[in-house]
Amino acid sequence: MEFTELHNPNFEDRSRPVNGIIIHSMSEYINGMFANDFLADIGLSAHFLVGVDGAMYKCVDPDKKAYHAGLSEWGGQKYLNSSYVGIEILVEGDNDWSDFKKKIEDPATFKAEQYSSCIKLITWLKTEFPEITNENIVRHSEVSGPAVRPNDPKPDPGVGFNMIRVREAIKTPT
Ligand SMILES: [Zn+2]
Repeated sequence: MEFTELHNPNFEDRSRPVNGIIIHSMSEYINGMFANDFLADIGLSAHFLVGVDGAMYKCVDPDKKAYHAGLSEWGGQKYLNSSYVGIEILVEGDNDWSDFKKKIEDPATFKAEQYSSCIKLITWLKTEFPEITNENIVRHSEVSGPAVRPNDPKPDPGVGFNMIRVREAIKTPT
């Protein structure tokens, strides 16, 4: 896979093998900072970013633990950063939180090039890490929602992101 490599210092060794993927979305720019720079600045990170034009950025090696989903729970596991890969789908522009939340409810926000890159990336990750199951390819809102984070539920990637399209594309023929 071809990635533009970016630097993010926020990672550590994994304590569990990779067995899942969390799909996020975030603003392409926040306060004038590109998404990776913003995350790095506040002590967070994602392994991969998918740009508005579908460009793929690698910020943290997926062998390492990145900080994209602290309080989270899925399939009997908690604190999924230990074993999950984080992918951020970028939302065009420099959006404040209220604009961002509106945009991620609109299907037009997410571009065909972004779906295509996201699907390619997941397919590649599944070959790199065979313990990743389709059941463990989830949205951030599914694993860090109101039941898990009552005071700060995560809305991303948003109802505008067509997860069914992704799930259909990554199904392994049986
Ligand atoms: Zn998220």
